[in-house]
Amino acid sequence: MKQMFIGGRWLGARDGRSMPVVDPSTGQEFDQVARGGAHEVDLAVAAARASQSGAWGRMNATERGRILMKIGQAVLDHADELAKLEAKDTGKPMATAKNDINVLARYFEFYGAAADKVHGESIPFLNGHQVTLVREPLGVTAHIIPWNYPAQMLGRTVAPALAMGNGVVLKPAEDTSLSALRVAELAVAAGLPEGALNVVTGLGEEAGAALAGHPDIDFISFTGSNEVGALVQQAAAKSAVKCTLELGGKSPQIVFDDVDADRAVPIIVRAIIQNAGQTCTAGSRLLVQRSAYERIVGRVAEAFAKVRVGTPEMDLDCGPVMNPAQLSRVNRYVEKARASNLKVLAEGRIADGVASGGYWVKPVLFGGVPRDHVIACEEVFGPVLAAFAFEDEADAIALANGTPYGLLAAVWTENAGRLHRVAKAVKAGQVFMNCYGAGGGVELPFGGTKRSGHGREKGLIALDEMSTTKTLVHFHG
Ligand code: NAP
Ligand code: MG
Repeated sequence: MKQMFIGGRWLGARDGRSMPVVDPSTGQEFDQVARGGAHEVDLAVAAARASQSGAWGRMNATERGRILMKIGQAVLDHADELAKLEAKDTGKPMATAKNDINVLARYFEFYGAAADKVHGESIPFLNGHQVTLVREPLGVTAHIIPWNYPAQMLGRTVAPALAMGNGVVLKPAEDTSLSALRVAELAVAAGLPEGALNVVTGLGEEAGAALAGHPDIDFISFTGSNEVGALVQQAAAKSAVKCTLELGGKSPQIVFDDVDADRAVPIIVRAIIQNAGQTCTAGSRLLVQRSAYERIVGRVAEAFAKVRVGTPEMDLDCGPVMNPAQLSRVNRYVEKARASNLKVLAEGRIADGVASGGYWVKPVLFGGVPRDHVIACEEVFGPVLAAFAFEDEADAIALANGTPYGLLAAVWTENAGRLHRVAKAVKAGQVFMNCYGAGGGVELPFGGTKRSGHGREKGLIALDEMSTTKTLVHFHG
């Protein structure tokens, strides 16, 4: 049974409650984790607040950065152990888990190196005045993350908050607490003062809601569904604190007839299959110019049919989905598509010998999808790709922008002018041109437009989000 990490110490839930940790590739419980609630959130917020006036708050930016880089190194030193833990907890292939742990380390290295590069400004003002703009921590920052990339999400949101000197309280998803607990332990061993990073494990409606609604937090970073994002923003509004919301997506791959198909096809398949489609930035819509539709979609179907699903140890293209709710969600969308007689162009295969209790989904590519079908508009969050034909540039843009989401997009064409025109017209936080980077690139500012959320994470811009400014006006005569 794993306890929570609060104020530098391990702590069980006051009422002794815990929740199961389940292996998605067998459906079997293999551990228990403490089920924290409002009481433990109170303790964690108090510890984070106390860190602001303790050793953490007194530390200069260079020292903070050095500790973050040591955490990055500790993650690399324990990469095998962490990757195995993450793979067991999420069911993802070992290669994916290893990459996730490498990205986790990169976040600590990147923000550790950046910590003392955040400088103020001097502003010309009235004669006899010296005005200085300085950056300061927000105070206590609350972080609520989902289960799809637990380690990467932790790095993405926690590392910049620590780099700016905040006291952090993290609530991992109930299904995936293990890597967060281990990283918190490694962080303290690397020199992070107690209370700077606190991990409260528990359910969203208990620990998550208590954290989002806590009167003594200064900021909320939320990654997850639109439904819960709305609740979090309401909670933030009540205490007048800023929040960033990284929500869902329905990202288009926009493919013109002059595409370099050899390059595009494997990347397009990977962008939906990666992590069994449970990626907010999954390329879940394939938009192909009608003049090349049969040819390109045919090639994607050929590659798609080779996709293999299996356990972490089998290390195939993807693993199971996360939990029974996710399994029935994906199956529901696939059944709706079949009920509408949408054409199945290709299906992947589940490897022989996987446990029958695992949450297995067969990847599927649907063709000729009507633009108003649910699988054209709603986020499936599974290995389901929907293909559409478009006529010309204007039609491609209308189709690409035709969902409530605006997270990522990709444009594929050998025509440079068209590449840039379409990239400019598409509503998304990131647009990839003749490439696709679902989840990658810690240096690249990332976030949503439209209903995909607001605020930016990753890159140096996250340091602005996770800090505030103070304007110092000095009259010296
Ligand atoms: P979710 O149900 O919204 O959960 C996200 C987190 O919020 C979990 O830690 C969850 O705890 C917690 N939570 C649940 N109810 C809460 C409440 N009432 N108050 C406060 N916190 C609460 O989302 P999910 O199903 O885990 O993840 C899937 C969604 O996340 C998809 O829509 C996906 O696109 C989105 N996503 C977005 C990004 C991005 O960067 N834009 C990245 C990854 C995922 P429990 O685990 O206990 O429910
Ligand atoms: Mg949940």
